[in-house]
Amino acid sequence: MKVDFHTHSDFSIDSQSPLEEMVKEAIRMGITDMAVTDHVDYDYDEDGVTSDWDFSLEDYFEKIREINEIYGDKIKLYRGVELGIQPHLGDRCNQLVAENAFDFVLASLHTVDRKDLYNQKYFKTRTAEEAIREYYKSYYDSIIQLNDFSVLGHLDLYLRYWSPLKDEPVQKYFDQIEPLLKYVIDRERGIEVNSGGYFKYKLNANNPSDDILKLYKSLKGEVITLGSDAHKPDQLGTLHQENLQRLQGLGFKYVCTFEQMKPVYHAIDKLL
Ligand SMILES: [Zn+2]
Ligand SMILES: [Zn+2]
Repeated sequence: MKVDFHTHSDFSIDSQSPLEEMVKEAIRMGITDMAVTDHVDYDYDEDGVTSDWDFSLEDYFEKIREINEIYGDKIKLYRGVELGIQPHLGDRCNQLVAENAFDFVLASLHTVDRKDLYNQKYFKTRTAEEAIREYYKSYYDSIIQLNDFSVLGHLDLYLRYWSPLKDEPVQKYFDQIEPLLKYVIDRERGIEVNSGGYFKYKLNANNPSDDILKLYKSLKGEVITLGSDAHKPDQLGTLHQENLQRLQGLGFKYVCTFEQMKPVYHAIDKLL
């Protein structure tokens, strides 16, 4: 078994890769279980213009069904979504998750105060500490609005976009990170280990960092998914084996897939 539970296709605004091309490459690489997690991200403020990242879920589910029919003996494709959360979007997010039969919902914070972190303006008007504290506050305020989700996406995402933040000791923010982790642990939900920072942002680390994984372990967190955040076929499965070994080294026993919104546990020593 080889898993990738964070992948994109051209249903996402920021990917040009047809889903079938992603799946063919995944099969070639030996991936057996793959969640497609295209972006639904509501209510961005882009220089005063409000925009949504959205697509036809009907077409999406139909495409996933077709692919499972054609390639089902080689790979299992799961119905996922990467849902952009914000503190004021609870009702909209809950409606989307309630009305659609997802297997897996990645809850990701891409914006603070409706501003996309990716374009860096957010960081320019804040000290490092302000930027990080506001980010985690926004994450927590968003997640507690949700009736259901699977894992927290790329928990320390800000490290991808603003390099001075790498100098901030993460332990300084454990008072905000710990409640987030406890919140998911209490609900048998979890976090992902996202290797996307390696190829795209030269981060030379996963999101979240090992320090956060150690904290999660110390709190008895068990639910972890592995994802490449691939937007192109050649990014699939990044560091799959290395990250299994890393997790094992940190004392974790399982990685999870999700089916119909429930975690399924796979022993790491059987996957290595
Ligand atoms: Zn994301
Ligand atoms: Zn993503």
